[in-house]
Amino acid sequence: MLFAHDTELALRGAAALVNTAPTLPTDTDDLATVEDLERFVAEWEWTGSRAHDHAELEAVRALRPRLRRLWTVDTDGAAALVNELLADARALPQLVRHGEWTWHLHATPPEAPLATRMAVEAAMAMVDVIRADELGRLRTCAGDDCEDAVVDLSKNRSKRYCDGGCANRAHVAAYRRRRATTG
Ligand SMILES: [Zn+2]
Ligand SMILES: [Zn+2]
Repeated sequence: MLFAHDTELALRGAAALVNTAPTLPTDTDDLATVEDLERFVAEWEWTGSRAHDHAELEAVRALRPRLRRLWTVDTDGAAALVNELLADARALPQLVRHGEWTWHLHATPPEAPLATRMAVEAAMAMVDVIRADELGRLRTCAGDDCEDAVVDLSKNRSKRYCDGGCANRAHVAAYRRRRATTG
């Protein structure tokens, strides 16, 4: 494992949140409605307080472009962004133990708004990434016409594509090209 389990989960969750936003003109927004947010929250097993209203949805949607920038800036820029996210949320790291989890970090209380908790969880994970000088793990999918945020957590730094089928499409295209040149 490259990072702690909760860090890796938070990074994958942040990428998934970023990728709900439409990146191309033909793309749809996967967080368009309150129902979409319910689905996302259930899928990523977010606990804690919820408002279940439009303001909550808008706050989460507004977080997406801020997190997206982590995939495009250099390490100094990422550090500044992370500090800004933590300061905005008045994050206060505390060791907690609950359920089946052993001691781990929370930097927001469970009653903090969902978007705040999402921002701080992503920022705290990025603290680990930046301290380890591993920002290069955050990539954009190498697929044609795909701009999905990718987190490469592989040992040999080999992940180039998102999980949306781009690797498959690239392999098929390469195969067709080979066949075309060899007749
Ligand atoms: Zn916890
Ligand atoms: Zn892709």
